[in-house]
Amino acid sequence: SSGKKKETHKANFEINLQDAVDGQVVTRFPPEPSGYLHIGHAKAAILNKYFADQYHGKLIIRFDDTNPSKERVEFQDSIIEDLRLLGIKGDRTTYSSDYFEKMYELCIQLIKEGKAYADDTVQEKMRQERMDGIPSERRERSVEENLNIFTEEMKNGTEEGIKNCIRAKMSYDNPNKALRDPVIYRCNLTPHHRTGTEWKMYPTYDFCVPIVDSIEGVTHALRTIEYRDRNPQYEWFLNALNLRKVHIWDFARVNFVRTLLSKRKLQWFVDKGYVSNWDDPRFPTVRGVRRRGMTVEGLKNFVIAQGPSRNIINLDWSVIWALNKKIIDPIAPRHTSIVNPVKIHLIDGPEKPVTEKKPKHKKNPDVGEKDVIYAKDIIIDQEDADSLEDDEEFTLMDWGNIIITKLLKEDGKVQSIEAKLNLDGDFRKTKHKITWLADTEDNVEVDLVDFDHLITKDKLDEGDDFENFITPDTEFHAAGLADLNIKLLEVGDIIQFERKGYYRLDKKGESGKPYVFFTIPDGKTVSKY
Ligand code: ATP
Ligand code: MG
Ligand code: MG
Repeated sequence: SSGKKKETHKANFEINLQDAVDGQVVTRFPPEPSGYLHIGHAKAAILNKYFADQYHGKLIIRFDDTNPSKERVEFQDSIIEDLRLLGIKGDRTTYSSDYFEKMYELCIQLIKEGKAYADDTVQEKMRQERMDGIPSERRERSVEENLNIFTEEMKNGTEEGIKNCIRAKMSYDNPNKALRDPVIYRCNLTPHHRTGTEWKMYPTYDFCVPIVDSIEGVTHALRTIEYRDRNPQYEWFLNALNLRKVHIWDFARVNFVRTLLSKRKLQWFVDKGYVSNWDDPRFPTVRGVRRRGMTVEGLKNFVIAQGPSRNIINLDWSVIWALNKKIIDPIAPRHTSIVNPVKIHLIDGPEKPVTEKKPKHKKNPDVGEKDVIYAKDIIIDQEDADSLEDDEEFTLMDWGNIIITKLLKEDGKVQSIEAKLNLDGDFRKTKHKITWLADTEDNVEVDLVDFDHLITKDKLDEGDDFENFITPDTEFHAAGLADLNIKLLEVGDIIQFERKGYYRLDKKGESGKPYVFFTIPDGKTVSKY
């Protein structure tokens, strides 16, 4: 099936960008520095990068910083860092705010040509008029009056200026509501993180994006599908301002079950202490999923497999984790951990512990070797112990068969076992193959952490308040012991604890504290709620 996977990725991408000329394609990823990158943004970034590479063109990373109330330098820096983690570097990094002067001039041009007007209709009324297809009372203001409001009142952020906004004069009753005189400039007295207090008014997203795309030489603007109604508006601006045309290419937004992607809602979880921070392993941020054990390759394969789909999807996380497993399984070193240990005394086991070198991955010698200790006293998981019966012959993984001579039980739980070696026994004939560790001081204490989704409902409906669907417990700890080789791992390393699953080391143990491992979902686990 892994051969088939590669084909699928290629086949999906035989979709082409319209009128793309090799060597001349320019795409752009335009994040607003108003939060940390999440997995949806990663999709947009990877797609833009993919097309730029495919056509030997260029990728622009553009900070879409036109709303000082939401934006911060902290977010800008984190976005650059996260793109780097994803292996994405633009050919240029630009800022919408670099074009404030240019957009100001273009807005004056629209006003002078009678294609924009100043409107001080109160917000609620404006919304209603737009719904009903009624023209604003201010629609026929004179060019002079409009110019004065824009270049004096609004520009200086006066009391009169703040009451006004500038609207493009497209239509008041077009069936497409996106064309009903959209707002293109409004006042905001909050200082901007790059331009300070130089500006008291800012272009809106609708006005800014087509202009900057055109000026920067973007040939293909990739936009998520919910902007489709706004495509005619985008084209209207380019026509009205006589600017170079840009192709728009729509792609599907990704959504995941039981997951919120809105920056505002994610911030709420941080503020309320439901998560530690934006890099919490339960968060769908680039940092969060990476901390949970997602690889860059897994993420890329996922985006590329999704590629041209235009259906807005509510994906199950198992899809992406299953792709990730294909990346990590062939290279993750195998280790052993035991939770709730039960002792086995091997009557004829080695008198003194013996250490041997064994491969960390049976099918991939490149992964290297580890130390395995064989001893007279060993430990196994309580759960495994409870599955055993009196006199049973079973297999110790990577050692051999043993036969139980004494099984001490209390209240149905096995307390301890005595057994004798039967290393010539046939492991194919035993019912149980069990992971074990020598019961020596060398073992390392570990904290195995698993997580659940933050939200209890697969897909929140329109009227649902997400605060009513918070999962009560989302973090689960199991204390255990692991083999001594764990001490050589670095934070971020991905391993498999045999018969338990994949884990990522989040924190090394020190001064009596255990090594903290996060469970990496493998695409099979289901929510506990
Ligand atoms: P939010 O709704 O949280 O404010 P946003 O979509 O406004 O997020 P931007 O920083 O403006 O965030 O987005 C940057 C780019 O990422 C845009 O091109 C946007 O279309 C794309 N994008 C955002 N969310 C998703 C998603 N869920 N799936 C795919 N692309 C997305
Ligand atoms: Mg946005
Ligand atoms: Mg948004």
